[in-house]
Amino acid sequence: AAPLAIVRGTGHAADAGIVMRTGEAFQTFRLVRRIVLDKTGTLTQGRPTVRAVESVDGDTDAVLALAAAAENPSEHPLARAVVTAAQEAGLAVDAAEEFESMTGSGVRATVGGQRVLVGKSSLLTDAGIDLAELTARIDQWEAAGHTVIAVATESTALGLIALGDELRPDAAEAVTTMRQAGMEPVLVTGDNQRAAQHVAEALGITQVHARIRPDGKADIVREVQADGTRVAMVGDGINDAPALMQADVGIAAGGGTDIAVESADIVLLREDVATVLDARDISDRAYRRTR
Ligand code: ADP
Ligand code: MG
Repeated sequence: AAPLAIVRGTGHAADAGIVMRTGEAFQTFRLVRRIVLDKTGTLTQGRPTVRAVESVDGDTDAVLALAAAAENPSEHPLARAVVTAAQEAGLAVDAAEEFESMTGSGVRATVGGQRVLVGKSSLLTDAGIDLAELTARIDQWEAAGHTVIAVATESTALGLIALGDELRPDAAEAVTTMRQAGMEPVLVTGDNQRAAQHVAEALGITQVHARIRPDGKADIVREVQADGTRVAMVGDGINDAPALMQADVGIAAGGGTDIAVESADIVLLREDVATVLDARDISDRAYRRTR
């Protein structure tokens, strides 16, 4: 029965902008009871914009320009937002050398002979950089639901950049429908607790895991699976790849990166999280008919 169901289902799936990469996930989807959702780029648009810049010495343009130079080689949406903001402000974006990307935390590069570090505050504090002067501002911006990244040279903090991202218009309805379909949503993100909470509250999600490293997302999936619960994971980024592989059903959200797509069982071609439910319906219907 299985191959026939897959053949039938695949036709419906293609119409709905869904690519089923493995038959197994297709069979398992209707048994999924928990759905782990990445925040950035999956529930949100994934197109953050710079909302504010803070500088220790008052020169916010210098902070933005240096961050943009260091971020320029990165494809991360936060990096693209920083570069765009610098360009829109008419600032020169210098060349970066010795660029290094630290997935899920930030970037490091040499700009004009200086070592520059840009990323989440723990990336800087772990490197021995003191952020004490900036803590109040970080708290204030995070409380407003922003993602805050810090900028430093060598061992000195220079400033902060606050970024905001809008929810996908269909996210709230999709989450409600997932729950009605018997899949309890769980939010995971590498972002800060308050930004995560902001999104969770807006969508009615009660299970939230923030500040999770890429491997940690896979660990969360594994923990939920421990009692035999079938788990789906929806993500778009390189940082979601291990969790997508660990999940019973890994789903690459519309516009996902190549690595997410290669790690997933199901690929959504449309930038519309509600398509997840179409994929489940197709799997459900196909198997019901062949039983
Ligand atoms: P998410 O899990 O929400 O998709 P990521 O795992 O990609 O987010 O990133 C987690 C956090 O790491 C971000 O919120 C940011 O603080 C930091 N970060 C990641 N990549 C970058 C980057 N290129 N520049 C600055 N900060 C970054
Ligand atoms: Mg993401």
